[in-house]
Amino acid sequence: AEAQDHRNQRLESLGQLAGGIAHDFNNMLGVILNYASFVIEEAESAEPDVAAIAADAEQVIRAGKRGTDLTHQLLSFARREVVRPRPVDLNALIAGVQELLRRTLGEHIPLLFRPDPDLPMVTCDPNQIEQLLVMLALNARDAMPSGGNLVIDTGCLDDRVRLRVTDCGRGMAPDVVERAFEPFFTTKASGEGTGLGLATVYGIVTQAGGEVGINSEVGLGTTVTVLLPAGAAAAPVDTAERPAPTGGHG
Ligand code: ADP
Repeated sequence: AEAQDHRNQRLESLGQLAGGIAHDFNNMLGVILNYASFVIEEAESAEPDVAAIAADAEQVIRAGKRGTDLTHQLLSFARREVVRPRPVDLNALIAGVQELLRRTLGEHIPLLFRPDPDLPMVTCDPNQIEQLLVMLALNARDAMPSGGNLVIDTGCLDDRVRLRVTDCGRGMAPDVVERAFEPFFTTKASGEGTGLGLATVYGIVTQAGGEVGINSEVGLGTTVTVLLPAGAAAAPVDTAERPAPTGGHG
Protein backbone atom coordinates (compact mmCIF):
# COMPACT_ATOMS: atom_id res chain seq x y z
CA ALA A 1 0.00 0.00 0.00
CA GLU A 2 2.89 2.31 0.80
CA ALA A 3 4.49 1.70 -2.56
CA GLN A 4 1.17 2.41 -4.21
CA ASP A 5 0.82 5.68 -2.25
CA HIS A 6 4.32 6.61 -3.24
CA ARG A 7 3.54 6.01 -6.87
CA ASN A 8 0.27 7.94 -6.71
CA GLN A 9 2.10 10.89 -5.20
CA ARG A 10 4.61 10.76 -7.99
CA LEU A 11 1.87 10.78 -10.59
CA GLU A 12 0.12 13.66 -8.85
CA SER A 13 3.22 15.80 -8.78
CA LEU A 14 3.93 14.94 -12.37
CA GLY A 15 0.42 16.11 -13.18
CA GLN A 16 1.04 19.42 -11.44
CA LEU A 17 4.31 19.80 -13.26
CA ALA A 18 2.66 19.08 -16.59
CA GLY A 19 -0.04 21.65 -15.89
CA GLY A 20 2.58 24.20 -14.92
CA ILE A 21 4.46 23.97 -18.19
CA ALA A 22 1.76 23.05 -20.68
CA HIS A 23 1.60 26.68 -21.75
CA ASP A 24 5.30 26.54 -22.61
CA PHE A 25 4.58 23.80 -25.10
CA ASN A 26 1.73 25.87 -26.42
CA ASN A 27 4.05 28.82 -26.96
CA MET A 28 6.58 26.66 -28.79
CA LEU A 29 3.90 25.21 -31.02
CA GLY A 30 2.65 28.73 -31.71
CA VAL A 31 6.14 29.78 -32.82
CA ILE A 32 6.46 26.68 -35.02
CA LEU A 33 3.08 27.21 -36.70
CA ASN A 34 3.74 30.91 -37.29
CA TYR A 35 7.17 30.49 -38.84
CA ALA A 36 6.06 27.48 -40.88
CA SER A 37 3.32 29.62 -42.41
CA PHE A 38 5.88 32.38 -43.11
CA VAL A 39 7.98 29.79 -44.95
CA ILE A 40 5.02 28.80 -47.13
CA GLU A 41 4.06 32.43 -47.81
CA GLU A 42 7.60 33.26 -48.83
CA ALA A 43 7.95 30.12 -50.96
CA GLU A 44 4.73 30.90 -52.79
CA SER A 45 5.58 34.56 -53.44
CA ALA A 46 6.52 35.77 -56.92
CA GLU A 47 10.20 36.13 -56.01
CA PRO A 48 10.95 33.82 -53.11
CA ASP A 49 13.69 35.11 -50.77
CA VAL A 50 15.73 32.01 -50.02
CA ALA A 51 17.60 33.65 -47.13
CA ALA A 52 14.33 34.65 -45.47
CA ILE A 53 12.98 31.12 -45.87
CA ALA A 54 16.12 29.68 -44.28
CA ALA A 55 15.89 32.13 -41.38
CA ASP A 56 12.25 31.25 -40.74
CA ALA A 57 12.98 27.54 -40.95
CA GLU A 58 15.75 28.11 -38.42
CA GLN A 59 13.16 29.51 -35.98
CA VAL A 60 11.00 26.42 -36.47
CA ILE A 61 13.97 24.19 -35.66
CA ARG A 62 14.92 26.23 -32.57
CA ALA A 63 11.41 26.03 -31.13
CA GLY A 64 11.27 22.31 -31.91
CA LYS A 65 14.56 21.76 -30.12
CA ARG A 66 13.36 23.60 -27.04
CA GLY A 67 10.35 21.30 -27.07
CA THR A 68 12.42 18.12 -27.22
CA ASP A 69 14.75 19.39 -24.46
CA LEU A 70 11.79 19.98 -22.21
CA THR A 71 10.31 16.61 -23.10
CA HIS A 72 13.53 14.87 -22.10
CA GLN A 73 13.55 16.61 -18.73
CA LEU A 74 9.93 15.64 -18.14
CA LEU A 75 10.58 12.02 -19.08
CA SER A 76 13.53 11.69 -16.75
CA PHE A 77 11.40 13.23 -14.03
CA ALA A 78 8.62 10.72 -14.66
CA ARG A 79 10.86 7.65 -14.76
CA ARG A 80 12.34 7.83 -11.27
CA GLU A 81 11.14 5.04 -9.03
CA VAL A 82 13.60 3.44 -6.67
CA VAL A 83 15.43 5.70 -4.23
CA ARG A 84 19.17 5.56 -4.95
CA PRO A 85 21.24 7.63 -2.51
CA ARG A 86 24.71 8.73 -3.60
CA PRO A 87 27.09 11.62 -2.93
CA VAL A 88 25.60 14.79 -4.37
CA ASP A 89 26.89 18.32 -4.91
CA LEU A 90 23.69 20.19 -4.10
CA ASN A 91 24.86 23.39 -5.83
CA ALA A 92 25.53 21.54 -9.07
CA LEU A 93 22.22 19.73 -8.79
CA ILE A 94 20.31 23.01 -8.36
CA ALA A 95 22.23 24.64 -11.20
CA GLY A 96 21.33 21.69 -13.41
CA VAL A 97 17.64 21.95 -12.72
CA GLN A 98 17.38 25.75 -12.91
CA GLU A 99 16.02 25.75 -16.42
CA LEU A 100 13.23 23.35 -15.49
CA LEU A 101 12.43 25.46 -12.42
CA ARG A 102 12.36 28.66 -14.48
CA ARG A 103 9.87 27.08 -16.85
CA THR A 104 7.80 25.89 -13.93
CA LEU A 105 7.76 29.36 -12.37
CA GLY A 106 7.05 31.36 -15.50
CA GLU A 107 8.49 34.68 -16.59
CA HIS A 108 6.78 36.72 -13.89
CA ILE A 109 8.77 34.91 -11.16
CA PRO A 110 12.55 35.34 -11.53
CA LEU A 111 14.59 32.63 -9.87
CA LEU A 112 17.60 33.78 -7.86
CA PHE A 113 20.09 31.08 -6.91
CA ARG A 114 22.60 31.90 -4.16
CA PRO A 115 24.93 28.94 -3.71
CA ASP A 116 27.37 28.68 -0.80
CA PRO A 117 30.67 27.94 -2.61
CA ASP A 118 32.02 25.91 0.32
CA LEU A 119 29.13 23.50 0.51
CA PRO A 120 30.05 19.95 1.55
CA MET A 121 28.59 16.99 -0.30
CA VAL A 122 25.40 15.35 0.89
CA THR A 123 24.18 11.80 0.42
CA CYS A 124 20.78 11.63 -1.18
CA ASP A 125 18.96 10.61 -4.32
CA PRO A 126 19.47 13.53 -6.71
CA ASN A 127 16.23 12.75 -8.56
CA GLN A 128 14.28 13.06 -5.34
CA ILE A 129 15.85 16.43 -4.54
CA GLU A 130 14.99 17.66 -8.03
CA GLN A 131 11.42 16.53 -7.48
CA LEU A 132 11.40 18.35 -4.13
CA LEU A 133 12.60 21.56 -5.77
CA VAL A 134 9.93 21.36 -8.44
CA MET A 135 7.22 20.89 -5.84
CA LEU A 136 8.42 23.82 -3.76
CA ALA A 137 8.63 25.93 -6.92
CA LEU A 138 5.03 25.02 -7.79
CA ASN A 139 3.85 26.11 -4.34
CA ALA A 140 5.83 29.35 -4.60
CA ARG A 141 4.34 30.01 -8.02
CA ASP A 142 0.84 29.51 -6.65
CA ALA A 143 1.64 31.83 -3.74
CA MET A 144 2.83 34.65 -6.04
CA PRO A 145 0.08 35.05 -8.66
CA SER A 146 1.21 38.60 -9.46
CA GLY A 147 4.91 37.72 -9.52
CA GLY A 148 7.93 38.16 -7.28
CA ASN A 149 11.34 36.62 -6.76
CA LEU A 150 11.96 33.05 -5.75
CA VAL A 151 15.26 32.70 -3.91
CA ILE A 152 17.03 29.38 -3.52
CA ASP A 153 20.10 29.41 -1.32
CA THR A 154 22.42 26.84 0.15
CA GLY A 155 24.59 26.99 3.24
CA CYS A 156 26.23 25.06 6.05
CA LEU A 157 24.76 24.68 9.50
CA ASP A 158 27.05 22.76 11.86
CA ASP A 159 27.33 19.29 10.32
CA ARG A 160 24.36 19.79 8.07
CA VAL A 161 23.73 21.29 4.69
CA ARG A 162 20.90 23.78 4.44
CA LEU A 163 18.75 24.35 1.39
CA ARG A 164 16.23 27.18 1.54
CA VAL A 165 13.46 28.11 -0.85
CA THR A 166 12.03 31.57 -0.14
CA ASP A 167 9.11 33.25 -1.83
CA CYS A 168 7.53 36.66 -1.22
CA GLY A 169 4.01 35.39 -1.73
CA ARG A 170 0.83 35.38 0.28
CA GLY A 171 2.29 33.39 3.17
CA MET A 172 0.58 30.92 5.48
CA ALA A 173 -1.37 31.38 8.69
CA PRO A 174 -0.01 29.41 11.68
CA ASP A 175 -2.80 26.82 11.49
CA VAL A 176 -1.94 26.20 7.82
CA VAL A 177 1.78 25.83 8.63
CA GLU A 178 0.87 23.32 11.29
CA ARG A 179 -1.04 21.10 8.86
CA ALA A 180 0.93 21.79 5.69
CA PHE A 181 2.85 18.50 5.64
CA GLU A 182 -0.28 16.39 6.09
CA PRO A 183 -1.09 14.37 2.99
CA PHE A 184 -4.16 15.76 1.20
CA PHE A 185 -4.18 18.96 3.26
CA THR A 186 -4.75 21.80 0.83
CA THR A 187 -6.24 25.29 0.91
CA LYS A 188 -6.40 25.40 -2.87
CA ALA A 189 -9.57 25.07 -4.93
CA SER A 190 -10.42 21.51 -5.87
CA GLY A 191 -8.62 20.60 -9.05
CA GLU A 192 -5.84 23.08 -8.27
CA GLY A 193 -4.31 21.53 -5.18
CA THR A 194 -3.81 17.90 -4.20
CA GLY A 195 -2.29 18.46 -0.78
CA LEU A 196 0.48 16.03 -1.70
CA GLY A 197 3.28 18.44 -2.52
CA LEU A 198 4.62 19.13 0.95
CA ALA A 199 3.79 15.61 2.14
CA THR A 200 6.05 14.32 -0.61
CA VAL A 201 8.73 16.86 0.31
CA TYR A 202 8.51 15.68 3.91
CA GLY A 203 8.85 12.05 2.84
CA ILE A 204 11.87 12.74 0.65
CA VAL A 205 13.70 14.72 3.34
CA THR A 206 13.08 12.35 6.23
CA GLN A 207 14.04 9.41 4.03
CA ALA A 208 17.38 11.13 3.43
CA GLY A 209 17.89 11.49 7.18
CA GLY A 210 17.13 15.22 7.15
CA GLU A 211 14.60 17.69 8.48
CA VAL A 212 12.26 20.18 6.85
CA GLY A 213 10.58 23.22 8.35
CA ILE A 214 8.44 26.16 7.30
CA ASN A 215 8.75 29.81 8.27
CA SER A 216 5.91 31.88 6.98
CA GLU A 217 4.25 35.23 7.52
CA VAL A 218 0.87 36.04 6.01
CA GLY A 219 1.26 38.71 3.34
CA LEU A 220 5.06 38.57 3.42
CA GLY A 221 6.10 35.16 2.17
CA THR A 222 7.33 31.72 3.03
CA THR A 223 10.68 30.04 3.55
CA VAL A 224 10.96 26.27 3.41
CA THR A 225 14.20 25.09 5.02
CA VAL A 226 15.62 21.64 4.32
CA LEU A 227 18.50 20.31 6.40
CA LEU A 228 20.43 17.29 5.14
CA PRO A 229 23.29 15.52 6.88
CA ALA A 230 26.61 16.66 5.39
CA GLY A 231 29.11 14.11 4.14
CA ALA A 232 29.37 11.78 1.21
CA ALA A 233 29.60 8.87 3.64
CA ALA A 234 26.47 9.66 5.64
CA ALA A 235 24.16 6.67 5.68
CA PRO A 236 20.59 7.74 5.02
CA VAL A 237 17.73 5.61 6.23
CA ASP A 238 17.35 2.98 3.56
CA THR A 239 13.67 2.70 2.88
CA ALA A 240 13.91 2.40 -0.86
CA GLU A 241 10.63 1.11 -2.10
CA ARG A 242 10.54 -1.04 -5.15
CA PRO A 243 6.91 -1.80 -5.83
CA ALA A 244 6.45 -5.54 -5.27
CA PRO A 245 5.96 -7.35 -8.56
CA THR A 246 2.32 -8.25 -8.92
CA GLY A 247 0.49 -10.14 -11.60
CA GLY A 248 -2.33 -7.62 -11.59
CA HIS A 249 -2.60 -3.92 -12.08
CA GLY A 250 0.08 -3.12 -9.46
P1 ADP B 1 -1.08 21.76 -2.53
O1 ADP B 1 -0.04 22.71 -3.06
O2 ADP B 1 -1.54 20.76 -3.54
O3 ADP B 1 -2.22 22.45 -1.84
P2 ADP B 1 0.93 21.12 -0.55
O4 ADP B 1 1.07 19.96 0.37
O5 ADP B 1 2.10 21.41 -1.42
O6 ADP B 1 -0.36 20.87 -1.39
O7 ADP B 1 0.64 22.42 0.30
C1 ADP B 1 -0.37 22.41 1.30
C2 ADP B 1 -0.86 23.82 1.57
O8 ADP B 1 0.19 24.58 2.17
C3 ADP B 1 -1.25 24.61 0.34
O9 ADP B 1 -2.59 24.34 -0.04
C4 ADP B 1 -1.05 26.05 0.78
O10 ADP B 1 -2.15 26.50 1.54
C5 ADP B 1 0.11 25.94 1.73
N1 ADP B 1 1.39 26.31 1.09
C6 ADP B 1 2.36 25.47 0.68
N2 ADP B 1 3.40 26.15 0.19
C7 ADP B 1 3.09 27.46 0.28
C8 ADP B 1 3.75 28.69 -0.05
N3 ADP B 1 4.96 28.68 -0.60
N4 ADP B 1 3.11 29.85 0.21
C9 ADP B 1 1.89 29.85 0.77
N5 ADP B 1 1.22 28.75 1.11
C10 ADP B 1 1.79 27.57 0.87
